[in-house]
Amino acid sequence: MRAGIGYDAHPLTPGRRLVLGGIDIPFDKGLSGWSDADVLTHAIIDALLGAAALGDIGSHFPPGEPEYRDISSLVLLERVRDKLGENGWQVGNIDATIVAEKPKLSGYIDRMRQQISRTLGVAISQVSVKASTSNELGFIGRGEGIAAWAIALIEESS
Ligand SMILES: [Zn+2]
Repeated sequence: MRAGIGYDAHPLTPGRRLVLGGIDIPFDKGLSGWSDADVLTHAIIDALLGAAALGDIGSHFPPGEPEYRDISSLVLLERVRDKLGENGWQVGNIDATIVAEKPKLSGYIDRMRQQISRTLGVAISQVSVKASTSNELGFIGRGEGIAAWAIALIEESS
């Protein structure tokens, strides 16, 4: 078994969709970035790549490549799952925390877990997603951005 960690943050700006864990969340701002800027999925991707010592999201899907413009990060997650498989790994479990002052995310957590687990081909019980705030501290507290942390455990494919 191997463990990996992932972290990501994106700025919140008007006129963008807010996508977290592949779910569109109604809000007056969204995350800016080259892809759909799904900060949760990006942190999970980095945790999985890190566990397998396969580099990071930027080395596999460089920002600026036309192919990745506004792409759903679930597509990238699916490719990472395949890369892990090619290297003899399968997903054990994932635990992630989104840190956002607003909007309130509790009503969307189970749908995010469902999307991520479906994309990875694992049971929903293997994917944990939690939401927290930064208690009005820092860039997250001022509503300037959203961050996510994730850890992943992977196992040799049976
Ligand atoms: Zn990102």
